[in-house]
Amino acid sequence: MAYIELSRKNYFHNLQLLTTKLGSKEKLAVVLKDNAYGHGLVETALLASEFGISKAIVKNHKEAEEIKILFDFILILAPDMQEATSEFSLVINALMTLSKAPKGAKIHLKIDSGMHRNGIMIEELEKAFIMIEEKGLILEGVMTHFRSADELSTELFWQMQVWKEIQKKSLLLVEKHGFKRPLFHAANSATLLRLGTYHDDFARCGIATYGYEEFHTAFGTFNLKPVLKLWAEKIVTRVVKEGERIGYGGIGELSCGGEVSTYDIGYGDGLFRYRGEDDLKTGEGYKIIGRVSMDNISVEGACEKVSIFSDAKALAHYHDTISYDVLVKLSSSLKRRVI
Ligand SMILES: *Cc1c(COP(=O)(O)O)cnc(C)c1O
Repeated sequence: MAYIELSRKNYFHNLQLLTTKLGSKEKLAVVLKDNAYGHGLVETALLASEFGISKAIVKNHKEAEEIKILFDFILILAPDMQEATSEFSLVINALMTLSKAPKGAKIHLKIDSGMHRNGIMIEELEKAFIMIEEKGLILEGVMTHFRSADELSTELFWQMQVWKEIQKKSLLLVEKHGFKRPLFHAANSATLLRLGTYHDDFARCGIATYGYEEFHTAFGTFNLKPVLKLWAEKIVTRVVKEGERIGYGGIGELSCGGEVSTYDIGYGDGLFRYRGEDDLKTGEGYKIIGRVSMDNISVEGACEKVSIFSDAKALAHYHDTISYDVLVKLSSSLKRRVI
């Protein structure tokens, strides 16, 4: 059966690199949303916890429930207020969501510092504090998300200025309402790697923990190591003659004939669909022959198993997308093995 192999060594290497930059393990919150970017939520959470990480960030309550015994702190990015309890910390993306939070909920106000995707506007901050007090909520954190940390531009720097203003304003309001000082957090992987140092309470890193930097090489390279390898196993080998064509539409062909094998993975497992028209190869360098089908892929040769990819970024480049996209689509039903 096709499976995903996770390298404990590489994951720990990446976590070590990031926690060294941050100065401590407590300052790193690992982002495990969307099935840990396709790596497998529970498998990745177990590794992070084994390494000594105590903070995790997930998408929803279902994900939080699955890993709750492993972390002291779990922050839900897109909470459904109908499921909200005081067990997990909740990101508040709009005043509307704030009005639905149940009494006693631990909340993190997400403030729009220029991305204009979601988050509370700076002008709404005062209103938000009033609502928090009236509704008996616990303000545990104030956060933002930068839109251009990974771009070759200076945008990150004006957004960081705005973030500083947000922090100042929040501290004044905290004092006015008699709240405890909240945790401040803003950096994602690109922000942390690009800046090198970071002074807020913790960073929220996803892609870098999985071994990828997705930004311009002008910001340096960081020796991160990809954690995930995708393997497929052989179903059958056949010998085709010159001129015999393989797969849907008969696109695939071996120029002089020879051995071709079918493996048990396809776009139904989350692999991007390759149209079979170029020179795409497996990790070992065997040519993929013809179109990728829903559950099958044909490859030259007769190996018992092939590595479909061990570097999502290279495959992403071929498909004109980013590593996040290639990884997150991998089906949750693929088996995960930690080595
Ligand atoms: C996904 C996400 C992150 C992690 O981003 P990476 O680029 O993967 O490090 C951080 N913060 C928020 C709010 C996110 O949604």
